[in-house]
Amino acid sequence: MHLDFQYKEGTSNTCDKVICCRAINGFPSDTNIQSGQYGEYKCDSPIKLLTSMADYINNVVQPDVIIWTGDSVPHSESMGIGFEEKKSYFQWINQFLKSNFTNIPLYPTIGNHDYSKTNFEDFTRQEPLFQYLQTDWSYWLDASAMALFKQKGYYKQVLKLKGGRTFSNIYIIGLNTEVCYFYNFYLFSQRNDPGDLLNWLDITLTDLEANYKIAILIGHIPPNGMDCNNGWSSRYKAITDRFQHIIRFSAYGHSHKEWHNNARAVISAKPIGVQYQTGSITPLKNNNPSFRVYEVDDQYFVPLKVHTYSMDISAANPQWAYDHELKQHYSLTNLSPSSFDDLSVRILNTESLGLKYTQTQSSQALAQLITSCDIICRFLIYCQIRQNTFYDYLSCLGINKSQVIFGQVEFLFDPWFQF
Ligand SMILES: [Zn+2]
Ligand SMILES: [Zn+2]
Repeated sequence: MHLDFQYKEGTSNTCDKVICCRAINGFPSDTNIQSGQYGEYKCDSPIKLLTSMADYINNVVQPDVIIWTGDSVPHSESMGIGFEEKKSYFQWINQFLKSNFTNIPLYPTIGNHDYSKTNFEDFTRQEPLFQYLQTDWSYWLDASAMALFKQKGYYKQVLKLKGGRTFSNIYIIGLNTEVCYFYNFYLFSQRNDPGDLLNWLDITLTDLEANYKIAILIGHIPPNGMDCNNGWSSRYKAITDRFQHIIRFSAYGHSHKEWHNNARAVISAKPIGVQYQTGSITPLKNNNPSFRVYEVDDQYFVPLKVHTYSMDISAANPQWAYDHELKQHYSLTNLSPSSFDDLSVRILNTESLGLKYTQTQSSQALAQLITSCDIICRFLIYCQIRQNTFYDYLSCLGINKSQVIFGQVEFLFDPWFQF
């Protein structure tokens, strides 16, 4: 969400800071650069954007369950946001979610900006944020989920829907993705399964499998990009391969763009699962605010449709509206992994589809800026959709990992074990 308490309507929407639209940026007389009530492309979310979203969700969408993938505080690290200030954001947002979605079960995860020290978690000590959230998040997490969360920042919890319907055979697994965040510099010395997450995930999924249960994985940082270190994501890939038959799908945030990519089998490279990344509420970095709704069948929990809702903040009178449904939008046969492989090939061969995909990522916020998607543009999308580790993505592009800084840094610290 990246809420910004200091967002002020009428302030300048352009500046040389990370985020604008604050009083410090001035109140220009030129109406073209005055910030509007619902947000601007170089600014984080005003309160009004969040409250309008909550009203729209309650009036129109009426979900059975909510997934919150983290990053709640503003991008104001360079302006000095500290843990005390972050607590005030969590206090407000926790209350906002509870009061607006009182009876809707909610499954939260933490984003890299949220940690007491932005981007960092030291796995040799307890993260203060987990402890701080204990009281408020006990509203959503049951006692055993909370007991693990406050120690480790991850949990599993049975799926419940609005109205109290409980699916005892389905578990939501909330990941702590700081264990793989490339910019979490503690990981340079803590590389032996930081936070013990992979070991726990392996044990947890083994137990679910033995008891004929299934899982939906949620987290902040997706495993397929350069932001998730390859040592971790290649092991995560092995686990998602081993348990492909019980992992229905996974959902992430972080990129602020609407993506989807396939999980692949380690040996055969067959597509075995779909990993969804939703767009963001904050318009920062040229996005129209958006959120997604997953429609699944209530017996097997296979995704049937994925709907996106968005708000065009550049409109004269911005309003939340239905944006698209994924299957129909890209003419997919269904939402199976092979359908996404097929989509990647069609994008590679069709410029109009590549352009559509690129524009959809930001809910058309860049439509006026991007007018072509050449073969390089389309090849990048093709590889992104088909791969779920960063090195696999590079390999798809034909790039040697030692040619990129991320590969060079990882080379220095591989192999992945504790000294
Ligand atoms: Zn993030
Ligand atoms: Zn973010």
